[in-house]
Amino acid sequence: MTRKTKTIIWIIVALVVVAIVGVLLSDVFSNEKEIELFAFIDKIESGEITKLHIDGYEWTGYTDKETYVTIAGSGYDMEYLMKLREQLAGKGIDLEVSLSDPNAESIWSSIFPFLGVVAVALIFFFIMRSAAGGGNAAMNIGKAKAHVQNNLKVRFSDVAGAEEEKEELQEVVEFLRSPKKFSNLGARIPSGVLLVGPPGTGKTLFAKAVAGEAGVPFFSVSGSDFVEMYVGVGAKRVRDLFDLAKKNQPCIIFVDEIDAVGRRRGAGLGGGHDEREQTLNQILVQMDGFESNDGIIVMAATNRADILDPALLRPGRFDRQINVNLPDVKGREQILKVHARNKPMAPDVNFKTVARITAGFSGAELANLLNEAAILAARNGKKMIGNLELYDGINKVIMGPQKKSRVVTESDKRCTAYHEAGHAILACLCKHCDPVHEVSIIPRGRAAGYTMTRPETDDNDISYNKLTDNICMALGGRVAEELVIKDVTTGASADLQHVSDIARRMVTQWGMSEKLGLVAYDSDQPVFMGMEYGNQSRGGYSQETAATIDAEIRRLISEAHKRATKLLTENRSILDNMSRVLVEKETIYTEEVGMLMEGKSYKEVIDAMDGQEETRKSNPFVFASKPSKEHLIDDEPTAEEKAEKTEETKDEE
Ligand code: ADP
Ligand code: MG
Ligand code: ZN
Repeated sequence: MTRKTKTIIWIIVALVVVAIVGVLLSDVFSNEKEIELFAFIDKIESGEITKLHIDGYEWTGYTDKETYVTIAGSGYDMEYLMKLREQLAGKGIDLEVSLSDPNAESIWSSIFPFLGVVAVALIFFFIMRSAAGGGNAAMNIGKAKAHVQNNLKVRFSDVAGAEEEKEELQEVVEFLRSPKKFSNLGARIPSGVLLVGPPGTGKTLFAKAVAGEAGVPFFSVSGSDFVEMYVGVGAKRVRDLFDLAKKNQPCIIFVDEIDAVGRRRGAGLGGGHDEREQTLNQILVQMDGFESNDGIIVMAATNRADILDPALLRPGRFDRQINVNLPDVKGREQILKVHARNKPMAPDVNFKTVARITAGFSGAELANLLNEAAILAARNGKKMIGNLELYDGINKVIMGPQKKSRVVTESDKRCTAYHEAGHAILACLCKHCDPVHEVSIIPRGRAAGYTMTRPETDDNDISYNKLTDNICMALGGRVAEELVIKDVTTGASADLQHVSDIARRMVTQWGMSEKLGLVAYDSDQPVFMGMEYGNQSRGGYSQETAATIDAEIRRLISEAHKRATKLLTENRSILDNMSRVLVEKETIYTEEVGMLMEGKSYKEVIDAMDGQEETRKSNPFVFASKPSKEHLIDDEPTAEEKAEKTEETKDEE
C-alpha cells in the first residue's frame, strides 16, 4: 500500500467513527451543564428541576430551559431518591424520574456489531502500520498519547502543607517565567526535577501547580504508556514529545511513573526489556541535548528513587530530587481545609480532630474522605457535611464500605464479637499498642468485623516492644476463639498473615533476633524480573540459616501466643462483657472500651450508651477520638491560630 492510499483509508475510518459518535451523542450532550452534586440537589428541592433521568452514576436533570448533569456517588440509591420524592410530593412538587432509557440501549445494541467491525479494522491497520515499521505510523501513535494542557488553573495554594517543597519548586517557577533573566547571568538551572514519594502525596498535583504558577504549557506522559508492544515506538514517542516541547518553550514535560521505563538497565530477564531500555536511552539522549537556557524543565514522579537507573540521576538530568512525604498532622489539617473549600461544612466540624486521627493518610486519601463524606451527607438528606459523615468517611477510606445488609447468623455474630473483643482487649493491655478507636462486628470490606487502632502521633519509629505487642494483639482474635468457642474459625487468616509478616521482617530485616544477630538477610526490594534470578544465592544465606530464621519466626509468634492466652484468660470477664455489648450494639468506641477495661459491667455500659444515643448518632468523634494520653494533644488553638481565626471572621463581616 502506498502512503497515499493509507492516508485515505485512515481519513475514511476516522470520518465514519466521528459520524457515528457524533450522531449518538449530539443530542445527549447538547447544552448540558455539569454542576456540583449539592447544587443539583438544591435545584431539585427548589422545584427547578422537574424531570430527572438516572443512568448509573450520571444524573441528568431537566428544567424548563436547561439541562444539568451531575455525577452522583456510589452511595446513591433508590432509597434516597424515594425519600426525596416523598418530601417533594409533600410540597406539591412532582418530580418525574426515569431510569436509563431502554430505547437508548437498543440503539447501542444494534450499533455494537458495526462498531466491532470498525474496531477490528482499526486494529488491523495499527498492526499493518507498525509491521511496516514506518516511522510515520509510530509518530501518529506517539502523538496521540502525550497530553498537553495549557493554562492550568492549579496553583501552589491548591497544594497544602508542603511548604519546603513549594520553596524548592519556586525557583523552577521563576526560571520558567523568565528563562532569559537566569541564562543571561549564566545560572545553571536544573533541567530535571524528580519528585519522589508514596502514592497520593500530590506529586502530579505539584507538577501541575508549577506549570500553573509559571503559566506555561504542561506536557504529560506516563511511564507506563511507553511500555508498548512495538519496538521503537516508545523511543519515537519520547523524541516527538521533546520536539513538540521545544516548539513550545518555556514549558514543562512531566513523566509520571518514570520507574516504569527508568528502572536500572540490565535488570530484565529475556527480551521484554529491550523496548523499555530504548525508551530510557532516548529520554537520556534528549535530556543531554538541552541547552541550559532552553526553557524546558522535565519533571518526573516515582514512588521510589532507589530502583531508578543511576544514569537518570546524573548531573544535567534529574539532578534535583524533591521528596514529597505523607503529610503530618498539621499538613493533614491544611489539606482537609483546601478540599473543604467548596463544600459546605457544619459549624461544629473540627479539622484538628479529623487530622489527628488520620495519621498515615495521604493527601489523596484525605480528599477522598471528604468526598465520601459529602456523598453521605447528600444521601442523609443534609445540607452540610457533619461529624457523622466525616467519621464514616474515614472508616470507609480505611476499611471499605460497611455491609450492613450482609446476613450474619447469631452464632457467627457471637464468634466475631469474641474475636474482635480479643483484639481490642489486648490492644489495651499491651503498653505499646496504639489506642483503640472503634470495635465493630458490622462487616466492612472483606472483614467480618474490625478493631481499629490509630496512632496518636506521626512518630513512625517502630520499636521491638511495639512490634511484639502488635503481634500479640493480632493474635488476640484467634486466642479468644480458642478460649471461648473451643474451636477456631478461618476468620483469623488475615491476622495470621499479618503476624508472620511482622515476625519475618523482625528477624530478617531489622536484626531483632539475638540468634541471628544484626544481619539483614532479606532486602526490602521487590523482586524484579531477572534481577534476583541472576543473583545465584538469593539473600545469600545457607540452608541452616534458613532453618534458624524459620525457628526464630516461630518462637516470636508462639511467645506472643502464650502471652495473649495468659492475658485473655486473666481478663475473661472483660472479654465476656465486651462481646455481649458488641453483640447488642454492634459498634463501640474508645469510651466504652475504656469503661469495660475498668471493669464496668455489661449493663452499666449498655445503660450509658442508651443515654447518649443522640450524640452517638451525630458525632462519633466525641466517643471515638478521645486521646488516652492527654499531654500529646492540643486542640486548643495556638495564639497564632487564634489571631488567624479572628482575621477570618473579620473578613466575613
Ligand atoms: P501522586 O501523583 O503523588 O500519586 P496526586 O498528585 O495524583 O498524587 O494526588 C491525588 C490527589 O490527592 C490530588 O488531586 C489532590 O486532590 C489530593 N492531594 C494530594 N496531596 C495533596 C496536597 N498536599 N494538598 C492538597 N491536595 C492533595
Ligand atoms: Mg500521580
Ligand atoms: Zn482478627
